[in-house]
Amino acid sequence: MTRLHGRSIQGPNMRSGGRSGGINRRGFLGAAGAAGAGLAALPASFAHARRTAAPGTARNLIFLVADGMSTGTLTLGDMLSHSLHDRPTTWVDLWSQEGVRRATCATFSANSLVTDSAASASAWNIGERINNEAVNFTPDGRQPRPLWVRTREAGKATGLVTTTRITHATPAGFIANSPRRDLEDDIAGQILARGVDVALGGGSAHFPEAALAAQSNLRVVRSRAELLGLPAGHTPSDGRVLGLFTPDHMHHELDRGADEPSLAEMARAALGILARAPDGFTLMIEGGRVDHGGHDNDAGALLFNQLAFDDALAVATAFARSRNDTLVIVTTDHATANPGLTFYTSRCIKAFERCGHLKRSFEWIRAALNAEASMDARQRRLGPIVEEATGVGLSEDELALVGQSIGGQRIDPFFAANGSLLVLGSVLANHLGVAFASPEHTADFVEVTAFGPGSGALPPMIPITALHGLVVDAMGLPKA
Ligand SMILES: [Zn+2]
Repeated sequence: MTRLHGRSIQGPNMRSGGRSGGINRRGFLGAAGAAGAGLAALPASFAHARRTAAPGTARNLIFLVADGMSTGTLTLGDMLSHSLHDRPTTWVDLWSQEGVRRATCATFSANSLVTDSAASASAWNIGERINNEAVNFTPDGRQPRPLWVRTREAGKATGLVTTTRITHATPAGFIANSPRRDLEDDIAGQILARGVDVALGGGSAHFPEAALAAQSNLRVVRSRAELLGLPAGHTPSDGRVLGLFTPDHMHHELDRGADEPSLAEMARAALGILARAPDGFTLMIEGGRVDHGGHDNDAGALLFNQLAFDDALAVATAFARSRNDTLVIVTTDHATANPGLTFYTSRCIKAFERCGHLKRSFEWIRAALNAEASMDARQRRLGPIVEEATGVGLSEDELALVGQSIGGQRIDPFFAANGSLLVLGSVLANHLGVAFASPEHTADFVEVTAFGPGSGALPPMIPITALHGLVVDAMGLPKA
């Protein structure tokens, strides 16, 4: 056990802290802040981040977010697309197209080298680093207006599409101000009060019937059929559309039922409506549960959510390519779990092919296990349930390890990698070849890809805050 400055921090990984010996946690964050500030103070090298684009040339903006997408997830998604569909993902295919810009992005927030979705979405929306967990609420208490409030004031129609709750951190970052991301009832109120022309996702639990009934000119749809059944010519002036397809987050793509629209279907429906806005629109499309697959170290949920996101990107790309007035930005808010395919030669190919046969998420496995009446029953059913979900028959040893872990025993030396079904993720690495660094977000640099009017201003390396200025310039928004 290592004790540093009165805080007893258990766990082998602090030994590395031991190597430097002097840093205490507060000092570490101070250093992080200073480093952050140092990095933030490096705008000299980022100065060219705000090269001016021809102002006001983008009539529309489509901002796409694969939440919590590490570079490993992007890579594996592309490999799975080749394996299943014999073609690259739309995202990777963009890279070889004319007029497409790419950047590497540093995502740290104001109080952490490892950010969260709230701080990242806020960085895009107000151009400032704020503390993790806050939504467009600066450490000194200011509440600058998020982008979709400003674009609406500028006469644009607005849209939010996500597979998470529509009140969750990323969509909230485009429309709300909140000291804490988990105040989702209040964020729901802001979505209704501030007005979003098309908002589609989960989270009906945060929208009481009475609050919805009090809205004028609001159409609520609650199923795939209702969404696809919207009047063909619906325009933003015909009324707002709010899609609430599940009480909580929408299902992982692997578990999505016939009554739930896919992200690509929601993107197509939103674009169909917003394209009829007389003065253009701004739309955010989020594959929000890529992150959740990463947190669970669940290769199946992660990769099939990534491909579902890529299908939505294909819809947005086709739309933007059919005209010359739409800026498209596709990125992620931070890396999560850093998965990697890590076997060699034929063993690698065999293992990765198994990923294409994954059928259910860990969320589905968890629900199936929790449906068992006792821990003994759970232990007995573990093998068949995992095999039904993954196509993988675990060995006795592997079943024993996962069984001990769901019984609450610590299995993995890395403290953070215990609990829930994380040990299953580790055991499945033996079969799928995909291993994970952590169940948490990471500090890795992330990918930004952009094309269309204003994208020329994107330099090769940016702080996450730089996308705010790029959007404001490209849309010709009045200064805040
Ligand atoms: Zn996350």
